[in-house]
Amino acid sequence: MPIPAKMNSLPLMIDDIVCPAIPDDERLWVPQVENVWFRPLLLNRVNGEWVNLLRVRRSGVLSRHRHPAPVHGFVLKGSWRYLEHDWIAREGMYVFEPPGETHTLVVDEDVDEMITLFHVCGALVYYDEQDQPMGHDDVHTKIDMCTRHFAECGLGEEFVEQFIR
Ligand code: FE
Repeated sequence: MPIPAKMNSLPLMIDDIVCPAIPDDERLWVPQVENVWFRPLLLNRVNGEWVNLLRVRRSGVLSRHRHPAPVHGFVLKGSWRYLEHDWIAREGMYVFEPPGETHTLVVDEDVDEMITLFHVCGALVYYDEQDQPMGHDDVHTKIDMCTRHFAECGLGEEFVEQFIR
């Protein structure tokens, strides 16, 4: 019989997170902007990073943004692309977005819904069409959005705590 390691229960370890990535409860999808939602998985205040699913049900240009730190993506459903590149991120694909990248997210008309898991380090800095900065998201703005949404939808603002490390 295999036996589990005894040293895996250190008293000061932070909790693991194991959950269905795509939730049964629609309320776990936090509205970001119209027709765009994110489902939090990990909101890490120590490293200043977060892991979430991004869901888009609208075709068109979504956001122009810059990454000061790396992003890892895995496409679960649908497809999307960046105006600045000639590749298309399709279902099953892995995407690495290097620090320093500025790009414009587009979901094409023939895509009803796209869902992608993103591990975002640092921040997204948003830019307008004239390449002027217009705001940002980081782990703290994400926590704020989750807290407000979970309070409003009846799950309670403390619901966000399960995702925070
Ligand atoms: Fe990006």
